Order: sequence, then C-alpha cells, then structure tokens
Amino acid sequence: MDAFTFHNPTKLIFGKDQISQLPSQLPAATKKVLVIYGGGSIKKNGVYDQVMSQLNEAGVEVQELSGVEPNPKLTTVEKGVQICKEENIDFLLAVGGGSVIDCTKTIAAGAKYDGAPWDLVTRKAKPESALPFGTVLTLAATGSEMNAGAVITNWETNEKYGWGAAPLTNPTFSILDPAYTVSVPEDQTIYGIVDMMTHLFEQYFHNPTQSPVQDEMVEGVLRAVIETAPKLLENLESLEHRETILYAGTVALNGMLQMGYRGDWASHNIEHAVSAVYDIPHAGGLAILFPNWMKHNMEVNEQRFARMATKVFGVNPEGKGDKEVAEEGIKALRSFWSSIGAPETLADYDIGDDKFDVIVDRAMKRGPFGNFNQLHEEDVQKILEMSK
Ligand code: NAP
Ligand code: FE
Repeated sequence: MDAFTFHNPTKLIFGKDQISQLPSQLPAATKKVLVIYGGGSIKKNGVYDQVMSQLNEAGVEVQELSGVEPNPKLTTVEKGVQICKEENIDFLLAVGGGSVIDCTKTIAAGAKYDGAPWDLVTRKAKPESALPFGTVLTLAATGSEMNAGAVITNWETNEKYGWGAAPLTNPTFSILDPAYTVSVPEDQTIYGIVDMMTHLFEQYFHNPTQSPVQDEMVEGVLRAVIETAPKLLENLESLEHRETILYAGTVALNGMLQMGYRGDWASHNIEHAVSAVYDIPHAGGLAILFPNWMKHNMEVNEQRFARMATKVFGVNPEGKGDKEVAEEGIKALRSFWSSIGAPETLADYDIGDDKFDVIVDRAMKRGPFGNFNQLHEEDVQKILEMSK
C-alpha cells in the first residue's frame, strides 16, 4: 500500500424523511442559499417542495439556478458563478444527480476565483477557497455526493474533464433519501448501476495488486449490486432495493475503497472524450468501453481478471487456466450488463468511426493515462475500434 491520509469531511445523512435535518445542517451564518437543480424532475416528484419548505423553515433567502444539463456544461457553471458574485450567495444546495452536484462544486470554487472557471477544470489554476455547499441526492450513480470530483463539458472546444480540489469541493453534507430515487426512470437506473460498478472495477484493477482487505470489500459491494440490480429493475418502486443501490453508489466512490491504492480510471478518461464529442449518457459510454478495456488489458495480469471472475461472477475455475477463467469473467460482465439493458456498442448510439481521431486527441490531452496499464494513443484507438 502507499502511505495515505483519509479524511472525508462530508456528513452523510441517509434514510427516509431525513430532509427534516436540512435546516440544522446549514452553517449558522447562512442568509442566502442558491438552490441548483436540473431539468425539472424534482418538481414532478415533490422533492422541490420538500426542500423549499425546509429552507423556508430555516428562515433563509432562496435563489434558484435550474436547467443544469446531464453532462453539465461550462456555460451553466458560468451562469451560476455570476449569480453567486452578484447576489452575495453564501451557501449552495445541489438537488439532483451527479450532474447537478458536479456543476455545483465547480460553481462553488468559481465563485471565489477571479479568473474563468474553465481554468479550474483544466487545472491551470488551483482554487484557494470555495463557497460551502450541501447536496440532496436524487439518483444513485456517481458518488459525487461524497467525494471531491466534478466533471464538466466545454462544448466550444469539445472537452470534458474531471477535476476536484478536496476539501473545498467536498459537500459539507449530503442527504440521501431512497424514496427520492423511486422516480428515476428505468434507463437512468441502469446507467447508475453501470457507473457505480465501473467505479468499483476501476479501483479493483490497480497495481500493485496485493490488497486483500480492499479486494474483499470491492468484490462484496459488486456482488450486492449484481444481486440487487435485476430485482430493482423488476420493481422500480421497491424502496428496499433502491436503498441498497443508493448506498452502494456512495460507498463505491467515497474514497473508502481506494485507501492506499490508486485506481485506474482509464475507461472514465476515454468515456469523457467520447461524450465530449457525442452527448451520450456517461454510463452508456462506460458499458460499451469498459469490457473492451478489460479485454485489451487482460494480459497485463490474467490472474487478477481470473480472481474477479471467480469471486464476483462465480466462474468455476476447476480444470481451467487463468486465461480461460479471465475470459469467462469478462463475458459474464458483458452479458450481465446486456441482461439489464445497457448498450453494447457505439453503434447503439449511432456513433461511427468518423470522429475517432478527435476522441483520441481529447483523451490524450492530459498525456498517457491509467495505473493498471498505461494507455497511449494506439491503445485508445484499439479500444474504440473494439467498441464499434
Ligand atoms: P444526471 O446526469 O445527474 O441525471 C440524469 C437524468 O436523470 C437527468 O435527466 C435527471 O433529470 C434525471 N433524474 C435525476 N434524479 C431523478 C429522479 N429522482 N427522478 C427522475 N429523474 C431523475 O445523472 P448522473 O448519472 O447522476 O450524473 C452523470 C454525470 O456525473 C456525468 O456528467 C458524469 O460524467 C458525472 N460523473 C461524476 C462523478 C463524480 O465523482 N463526480 C463520477 C462519475 C460520473 P433532471 O435534470 O430533471 O433532474
Ligand atoms: Fe462515473
């Protein structure tokens, strides 16, 4: 293991009706709150009314920024920063999924930075302070509710990057009520499951691989998700299954599972490059790319893939070599994702190979990447070819 310091400052408030804790979580001096949300799902499912009634009770003034897009845009961040600067906002509240939360994180830092927010996303500048913010999560997927990361897209340059500046971009609190996720439609529920599983896998495939405690934890969370996902998709209204998946999404990317190890994150990098060119759902891209990343990198450590196959997918290793078991494991992942309705190829989104050069260029902007195996231009090209 590498030496590490673990400090996750987000207070996690989980369970039914926990929105009632909102007033007491606002910093004492809060006067003006900017509530940030997406395209309106929170108005349809009643979450907006519940949040507003709690803020009313807290006696704070409220402003709103709505319309945050899935794959949040830099222009929306800029709009939010302007509101914060003009209106003396002192607290931000994100109400939504990962996109709303990521946008809020970047607004929080941008509001205290004199230059353009894109400087922060591209890591040209480091924020020295940020507005404090909390979240009310409505979709189980990204883990953004309990980490410092944010992903923002610049449509002028077709660039989409992850960035973060802990602890400034960690939420001070996140309220997670499984009931708020019951209205998530089937496709977004599937995407959320694929995203959290990919986060788990990307932390699992790291070097060095001697990590017995972390391995057992990641494998256990993966098995729980694999067991629960089909039941939830059979009955989207099941609070019990919504609760399991919601908790899994947070645990998958709140830092608990990568203490002392660096994950790989190459598939996330390639996916960001794909969705910087084509506006497709983040986890739709991952479902297509990640099994091909696995195939491309299997030879780096066949034993690791074979362990995943047996421990996560129950592949029987008897009488077989690591290679065969590893291949069965990758196939098992592909068929599991297909069985729950995730896309398999870029053609599922009508994406051909005509812009592969742009995607490769965007993916390589920050240089070779990946910790399990370092990927170069030709590797990205190959993974894209396999994903057609
Ligand atoms: P999302 O983009 O936040 O939301 C997807 C869709 O689901 C939106 O149309 C949204 O509608 C809808 N929705 C959300 N909650 C709902 C509810 N309760 N009922 C009905 N509809 C609901 O999805 P996400 O997967 O959470 O976030 C994806 C983004 O996060 C991507 O940009 C990805 O790159 C990024 N990401 C971040 C991290 C991180 O650690 N920060 C990790 C992985 C990915 P409304 O707009 O109407 O609310
Ligand atoms: Fe993700």
